Amino acid sequence: KVRVRFAPSPTGPLHMGGVRTALFNYLFAKKHGGEFILRIEDTDQTRFVPGAEDYIIESLNWCGLTPVEGPGIDGDFGPYRQSERKKLYKKYADQLVESGWAYYAFDTAEEIDALRKEAEANKETFSYGIATRDNLNNSLKLSEEEVQQKIAAGEAYVIRFKMPADTDVSEDDLIRGNVTFNTTKSLDDKVLFKSDGMPTYHLANVVDDHLMEISHVIRGEEWLPSMPLHVLLYKALGWEATKPRFAHLPLILKPVGKGKLSKRDGDKLGFPVFPLLWTDPKTGDVSRGYREDGYFPEAFINLLALLGWNPGTEQEFFSLEELGEIFSLERVVKSGSRFDPEKAKWFNKHYFQEKSVDELAELFMPVLAEKGIEASDEKTKAVVAEIKERCEFVADLWDQSSYFFEAPTEYDAKTVKKRWKENTPNQLTEIVNVFETVDNWKADAIKDAFSAFMNEKEWGFGTIMNPLRLALVGGNMGPDLFVICELLGKEESIARIKTAIE
Ligand code: GLU
Repeated sequence: KVRVRFAPSPTGPLHMGGVRTALFNYLFAKKHGGEFILRIEDTDQTRFVPGAEDYIIESLNWCGLTPVEGPGIDGDFGPYRQSERKKLYKKYADQLVESGWAYYAFDTAEEIDALRKEAEANKETFSYGIATRDNLNNSLKLSEEEVQQKIAAGEAYVIRFKMPADTDVSEDDLIRGNVTFNTTKSLDDKVLFKSDGMPTYHLANVVDDHLMEISHVIRGEEWLPSMPLHVLLYKALGWEATKPRFAHLPLILKPVGKGKLSKRDGDKLGFPVFPLLWTDPKTGDVSRGYREDGYFPEAFINLLALLGWNPGTEQEFFSLEELGEIFSLERVVKSGSRFDPEKAKWFNKHYFQEKSVDELAELFMPVLAEKGIEASDEKTKAVVAEIKERCEFVADLWDQSSYFFEAPTEYDAKTVKKRWKENTPNQLTEIVNVFETVDNWKADAIKDAFSAFMNEKEWGFGTIMNPLRLALVGGNMGPDLFVICELLGKEESIARIKTAIE
């Protein structure tokens, strides 16, 4: 049975890469009729950030990536917050010590720091492991008695994994294929458990994946170096038979230049890297979010799906449901994918255009209300229908239509210079008279009356249309002039022309 988990640490807001990891897990579960689980990995209390867990949950909800088990959702494998599972991990750490796969280490932070500095002075890097462990203050060197005494005396300790020397650890990653690490060169003895009673990420992660019967670990590339340790932990704990399969997702790269997408790129290039707005509880710094920037979750999900995965066809628009039917890890690439903020807008435009006028009007009404504008449903819908095509975001609706709701307070200087002639006020005064005679205030009727008058006068349309538009909307933008007149209403249209004449 497929059971996958998204296992974020609440150390800050989830970024795009995190949401993409959640998405690929969710899609993999959907595709295989499996279960998608949320587990909060909060064992490192020094990095805990208040509000981060709520932020993660709200982000997943906004995206529609709802877990079937998780904090606040009942499930057979809970609790789903590691801090609430604290009591569970010690026995596995003990088991590893007993079987010789782990050992107690009593070295203080200062002692290790000093060793690190000493190594640095010799242009080397210190690592607590195969080369150094035998000379340090740990249970590999001390007698059983000494160890027990130290623990009884309350001396601080950690339990470290005892990395076997010169061993090739191979694992078949579902995206990368066979990955082999050699233990001497690259791996140190990672801390598994601390004397404050908390496991570290590595131990808690493996223990929980096992206990929660996780079948596939799908996570970011940054965890690839941890895979050999995790593979060895499954072996050491006697869980090889049910070890999950691993899949490490490619990086999301900066829009320009080298390297992985960072929070700073967003600030620099003016796009959000977080799903929702985030206010840092310590500094008060605010980071933009896709939701608050006006993106639809459908667009956000669609763009994330194509960062590292492709359908193998030309198709670019996918609903979450459709993705859940066709997603496969085989079509996830190994190399990083470049994020393109322009493409993100393009996706939003697509989903914006897909919405009905009624839906968009519904989204527009609160914007109008906030500006203190009272507009009928009917007018709002009619305006939206006119300008929808020019917009990509709900916010564009206002930019494209404000003149429907507010009379111009200034007139575009360039247009005035070019189009507003000496006799324009006289001409417009006559147009006002014509408009007064129109009883059925509809675009067609207004146009008919206007045209009849213009033909009679033999005025060129060009001389009057531009000043008239200027008077009504303040510039030369907008849809058909008579449609604008109709939507403004007779009284308002005439009032605006009179104001412009003065
Ligand atoms: N807690 C880890 C993180 O924050 C989870 C890594 C994993 O999925 O194993 O990304």
